Amino acid sequence: MEKPLSTWTCAIGLAPWLCLCAGLAGIVVERNIRDAQDALTQYGAAYSDHLDKQMVSNETILRGFSALFGAIGRSDPEIASRYARQVVAANPQIFLLEIVQVVERTRLDEFVAGMRRDGIPHFTVKSFSYESDRKWRPVTDKAHYYPIVFMEPMQAGAEEVLGLDVDSVSFLQRAMTESLRRRTPVASHPFRLVEGNLAYVVFSPITQPPGRDGSPPASNTRDELVVDMVIDAAKLTDAARSPMFDGGTLVVFHNDFRPDDTKGHLLHVMGQARSPVETAIFPSFVYEKPLATLGEPFSFIVKRQLGWSDLHLEMLALLAALTIISSLILVAYLRSQQQGRIVQIENRQRLWQLANHDGLTGLPNRMLLRDRMEQLLSRMMRHGKRLAVMFLDIDDFKQVNDTYGHDVGDQLIKLVAESLRTAVRAEDTVARMSGDEFVVLIESLEVREDLERVHRSIQEKLSDGFTIEGQPIRVRISIGIAMFPEDGETPESLIKRADMRMYENKAHRRVQ
Ligand code: GH3
Ligand code: MG
Repeated sequence: MEKPLSTWTCAIGLAPWLCLCAGLAGIVVERNIRDAQDALTQYGAAYSDHLDKQMVSNETILRGFSALFGAIGRSDPEIASRYARQVVAANPQIFLLEIVQVVERTRLDEFVAGMRRDGIPHFTVKSFSYESDRKWRPVTDKAHYYPIVFMEPMQAGAEEVLGLDVDSVSFLQRAMTESLRRRTPVASHPFRLVEGNLAYVVFSPITQPPGRDGSPPASNTRDELVVDMVIDAAKLTDAARSPMFDGGTLVVFHNDFRPDDTKGHLLHVMGQARSPVETAIFPSFVYEKPLATLGEPFSFIVKRQLGWSDLHLEMLALLAALTIISSLILVAYLRSQQQGRIVQIENRQRLWQLANHDGLTGLPNRMLLRDRMEQLLSRMMRHGKRLAVMFLDIDDFKQVNDTYGHDVGDQLIKLVAESLRTAVRAEDTVARMSGDEFVVLIESLEVREDLERVHRSIQEKLSDGFTIEGQPIRVRISIGIAMFPEDGETPESLIKRADMRMYENKAHRRVQ
């Protein structure tokens, strides 16, 4: 009899295996996540290192330019121009090298006239509104002006920046003042150049070299000059590391701003955005580092929001396929095991049935009767109840065999067994002892009338006889009864007593 494997058996059998497979998938995912985190750390470290180097080299170049200009003075601007052109050619992140001159208000007209004479015919000192409408404006009246007087390389259209009063642009003014105060390079906040690029300016005061004998430089009007360097943010990027990975965001920002304040952003590079689902279920990692130079106070942050593309989906798909195949094999194996167990149980049940039941009537046999009686007797004893043991034997059964044949005799035994079964309650036991002998156990007897009722019921069931193969056959039966506990307390003694009484009855009836 083929029985399907129960869902519970399947679940219990498969659970450890599925847990193991899920564990393996977990290890793969965990490894992918760790790899992505490691890649972010490597990327961040290499990128920030690149920026650090760029910034250190910016300051070195600016100090060199400052020292050169301090040494040669304004006597030979061509040397300064050549130096600047070479430096810019070799360092693409440097957009411009400039010189700012401090001019007193009283000298402003004379200064402008001098600049126009020196080859810049439309020179004027002016301001630029970087942070509002980005337009050139005239300067307001004040004690000192800080116009740009030199710039290299001089690109087409760039000369309009000459004359820009650095002091009139608040973020440039702050950095320049700070640089003059500290006598070191100081970077401005990021801003958009007149040309549109995102940039920042590093200022450095021009210092005269010390004298040959080591004496400090004499203070003179050259102190009124400041060099500055415009750094093109786009050229600072580590081109070798572009493009940014999916879910990545890189920000380089000035330390005067919060990281998410776009006004402080010098660089902002974003990879392919992640979906809201990915953001909800995958972790994100951050690598951050302050950049090392004192003059250029920028910080570097790179974030990575992980997503599906960071997982080895082929590997996970392979694992899922292996899990499904192996689970199917496991279910088949469990089925065959279960089938084997069912067959074993059925065989055992069949053997037990054969050993404990009568083959002809299917009633319990002598062995099972004994077992049942033992259990019943101890129960009756515990509850102080009575048990009746009825011994029944068909009268002149041999004659049935002899007259109608053994088969009819067999059928009669079956019919009598069936009648006995229906004459008693379901909980009472009817057993076949041997041949034409039966035993009926009637448990929990309250009164004598109960027993008489069963006795009557049996006689009634048999009183009409049976018709077998067209032959009407009358059945008479002799009954002997033994009572527990009065007539005995063991199965043997009770059966023996009931058997004896049955014989006495039979003999008595024969005499009549
Ligand atoms: P009594 O009135 O004294 O009981 O006489 P009886 O003819 O019924 O004979 P008894 O009970 O002593 O013997 C029962 C007979 O039943 C003996 C045997 O030939 C016959 N017999 C025993 N087992 C079977 C069986 O399985 N099938 C058939 N058809 N007959 C059986
Ligand atoms: Mg008999």
